[in-house]
Amino acid sequence: MMKQYIEEADNVLMHTYNRFQIVLEKGEGVYLYDMDGKKYLDFAAGIAVFALGYGNNEYNDALKCQIDKLLHTSNLYYNIPSIEAAKKLAKESGMDRVFFTNSGTEAIEGAVKLARKYYYKKHGISDSVIISMNHSFHGRSMGALSVTGTKKYREAFEPLIGGVVFADFNDFNSVKAQICDKTCAIIMEPVQGEGGLYPATRDFIEGVRKLCDEKDILLIFDEIQCGMGRTGKMFAYQQYGVKPDIMTSAKSLGCGVPVGAFAASEKVASAFEPGDHGTTYGGNPFATAAVGKVFDLFEADQVLKKVNETGPYLFDKLEELTKRYDFILEHRGMGLMQGLEFKFPVKDIVLKAMEKGLIIISAGTNVIRFVPPLVISKEHIDEMSDILEQCIKELDL
Ligand SMILES: *Cc1c(COP(=O)(O)O)cnc(C)c1O
Repeated sequence: MMKQYIEEADNVLMHTYNRFQIVLEKGEGVYLYDMDGKKYLDFAAGIAVFALGYGNNEYNDALKCQIDKLLHTSNLYYNIPSIEAAKKLAKESGMDRVFFTNSGTEAIEGAVKLARKYYYKKHGISDSVIISMNHSFHGRSMGALSVTGTKKYREAFEPLIGGVVFADFNDFNSVKAQICDKTCAIIMEPVQGEGGLYPATRDFIEGVRKLCDEKDILLIFDEIQCGMGRTGKMFAYQQYGVKPDIMTSAKSLGCGVPVGAFAASEKVASAFEPGDHGTTYGGNPFATAAVGKVFDLFEADQVLKKVNETGPYLFDKLEELTKRYDFILEHRGMGLMQGLEFKFPVKDIVLKAMEKGLIIISAGTNVIRFVPPLVISKEHIDEMSDILEQCIKELDL
């Protein structure tokens, strides 16, 4: 049965992914089940999405309730869930105004447009420049790809939008060297995700903030992967005590419902006027009912407190592994967003783990990425590290 579905998928879906050869059917807590009923401990959470775990009754009930009330209105009218969700996001992020989107990529598009509009309004010219980071990831649309610093994603699609230059992450002088009269914004992930789980250093992030303040350049933090509690604070920049002018969110923001957002300070957000940006679905009552409920459950279930207990526990476990095997080159990350860099591609380990009922994913070729549901327990972390070590021991080196 599973094999037949996979064959059908390969015939009808575009081949943009090398998918794992399983069809997932249901989830319960931090476990997933495939069509054959095989159980997997999930340390990927649908790529850092399902923070609350699967089958959370309160979350599911909130969605069911909203479906029966009102699914969609368009942005020509007001709706209650989007107002409630925006207030919560603004409060937690320290931003003043919010725009809801349908994905992370769209949140980046909006952030980039807002930065350009801010510069245009101030200087009366539109030809502004954005500095982004090498090895960054911001999404796949033409705009988001334009600020993504990974050659293999970009190459076939050039020319992308102009006015984007790249600097090295965690290298202040390299950012400074890219500043020009037309620089409107600097965009970065406080913890690089796809690029290999690299947290910004405190000096770097503070230095960039100061530079932006001096020159009235906007600082955009992409919190799509590292935000929503993943590092142990609601947003990763709060670990550094540094605030952006614009921030983006998605992934765990909806915990499974496709939704993203960008938010900004009043000073910056006021550059947008009616007609400058829009979306049909973005901020619809269904998606924003999910966002509102996610914030409520983060508070009720003390999710941040949990991450601050389980994050260090995971860190110690992975640190032990790193010490035991000299082909594990580095262990990096923060909270429940960590990575192990191997001397060789990790594909075999990931496949072996799947056979043994553990779902892990890579970031690039040589890094295993650990982004479990935020409600993971220490026992689950023990279970994961036991399976992982078995896989490592069985490697044909
Ligand atoms: C996943 C991701 C995106 C893109 O989000 P989508 O919802 O896939 O469009 C952008 N930035 C970062 C840091 C991400 O991890």
